[in-house]
Amino acid sequence: MRTRPTPRALLAAATAALAVGALTACGDDASDANAAPGKLNVVAAFYPLQFVAEKVGGDAVHVTNLAKPGAEPHDLELNADQVAQIVDAKVVVYLKGFQPAVDEAVEQQGGDRTFDVSTAVPLLDASAGHEHEGEEAGAEEEHEEAAGGKDPHVWLDPTRLATIGEKVAERLGQADPDRAADYTARAATFRSDLDTLDKEYAAGLKTCARREIVTSHSAFGYLADRYDLEQIGITGLTPEDEPSAQRLAEVATEAREHKATTIFFETLVSPKVAETIAGEVGAKTAVLDPIEGLQPGSSDDYFSVMRKNLAVLKPALGCT
Ligand SMILES: [Zn+2]
Repeated sequence: MRTRPTPRALLAAATAALAVGALTACGDDASDANAAPGKLNVVAAFYPLQFVAEKVGGDAVHVTNLAKPGAEPHDLELNADQVAQIVDAKVVVYLKGFQPAVDEAVEQQGGDRTFDVSTAVPLLDASAGHEHEGEEAGAEEEHEEAAGGKDPHVWLDPTRLATIGEKVAERLGQADPDRAADYTARAATFRSDLDTLDKEYAAGLKTCARREIVTSHSAFGYLADRYDLEQIGITGLTPEDEPSAQRLAEVATEAREHKATTIFFETLVSPKVAETIAGEVGAKTAVLDPIEGLQPGSSDDYFSVMRKNLAVLKPALGCT
């Protein structure tokens, strides 16, 4: 129904808590992009892509993440140093449609050194995984506004991430042919580790009392697709979308209908909206992390956060 407001308008309209999340992206260091002699200089647009590049690149690569820890990456704005990092990189790994500022910089500066991971696996339509009975047409349209109608949160399906790892390995091998076989071998190990995780999820979520997850932004479409869950996103594909009063009421109704015991919120955005709905329907809140970025100083990685998410999902959904 509505058009997507500009980031500036969103910032002005956002709550203080949301604005803090979006603005912390400015804390930068000029980085040590050139301080790794002998290594392939790779720039990754946000954490999951950094993780893939490091897993597949091993000690042959030096990876710089454009999104800093603790910052919500959807809204990343690039400073001159970060644009310089893109210019200096041998390979830039990004996901077209996820971060408009990165898309723009890559288009202007990236040349043929870029790799768009959305070309590695077909992306789901923005509405996939959100459809559920009782949702009205207006809310569906709201979900489809971002990323050209595609849902960018592909890393939350481990099997799709494994395929991305293999394609990133190919791309690194093109940039660094002497070590191409090493990249391929590491991608195979990465796939095997992700397969283990996938099996844990499939087993853990096999028999559950409920399959609906009420999440703060609609980041879990691929997780829902892979493990047969149903995502009820309070907001759309970007966390800055402010839910309308009507949407809040719809979500509360659905949460009650499905007897949701837990309303999920995220690490990098304010829990306020989730708390409001939880209070209204008498549910708890818990963190379900979309792994868009890590907290500053965190010793977690993709695997450990995915396993924490599973440990939270199982009791929330009444899985046996
Ligand atoms: Zn997101």
